[in-house]
Amino acid sequence: MRRERTRKRAGSVILFLLLVMVIALGFLFGAAYYRTQEAEKAELRSTLEKSNMELALRRMTEEQRAARLKAAEAEEAEADAQRLALKNSFLERDREELLQLVNPWNMLPEDYQPHLTEIGDGMLFDERAAGALRHMLEDAQKEGVIAVPISGYRTREYQQGLFDDKVLRVRANGFEGDAALEEAAKEVAVPGTSEHELGLAMDILDVNNPNLDWTQEWAPAQRWLMEHCSEYGFILRFPNGTEEETGIIYEPWHYRYVGLSAAKEITEAGVTLEAYLNRKEG
Ligand SMILES: [Zn+2]
Repeated sequence: MRRERTRKRAGSVILFLLLVMVIALGFLFGAAYYRTQEAEKAELRSTLEKSNMELALRRMTEEQRAARLKAAEAEEAEADAQRLALKNSFLERDREELLQLVNPWNMLPEDYQPHLTEIGDGMLFDERAAGALRHMLEDAQKEGVIAVPISGYRTREYQQGLFDDKVLRVRANGFEGDAALEEAAKEVAVPGTSEHELGLAMDILDVNNPNLDWTQEWAPAQRWLMEHCSEYGFILRFPNGTEEETGIIYEPWHYRYVGLSAAKEITEAGVTLEAYLNRKEG
């Protein structure tokens, strides 16, 4: 009987222990499962957060890029406006300068800045007129006329030298004092009153006539130039019979660039630059 009871008790103890083990294992597995779930959730959360952050970052860079693009566009528009204003001011200045009157009564302004470019043979000419001059001479040549440019821009010092030489020659012919200066000034402009100091005037000779005198008038180059120069923006600056207006003798070799529209108007009206400017002012 006693042994029977002992066996029963032992059986209960074992059963109890087994039960405890099962419960403990259950807890362990449950806890592990719970931990795994939590870890997965956390991972999911962090992935979501990361992708949200990336999205936000991308959206921000897109916004920044758009903003940068907009700023660049505004900057460019501003630069365009500035360029246009500058171009207009240049055009306005050009219009005035290309019609600048220089004669015995109108000295070249002290602050005048010529816009010069090299045109070959050591000559300088206004860069805004150099292309027109080249075209004119090339077109003449195409029609068998050889016109040779011999004197473009002159510095004040060079003009002074020319004038002084002329005075010496006039004195050799018997003129004295102020009379010599006056006589010289009829043919060589007093320094400061020569269009050559503007850089817009060119003396052009016929290839077969090297003389700077009235015989140029009948030379083929002058016939061609007198007929066509206005098509290139030039005028014959000192036409025959205008000495009173221009203060300079007839010079069938001296061409002045005034721009295309003014050259056409002056030529069509058959007037001097002086008369043309007077008419414009009046
Ligand atoms: Zn000249």
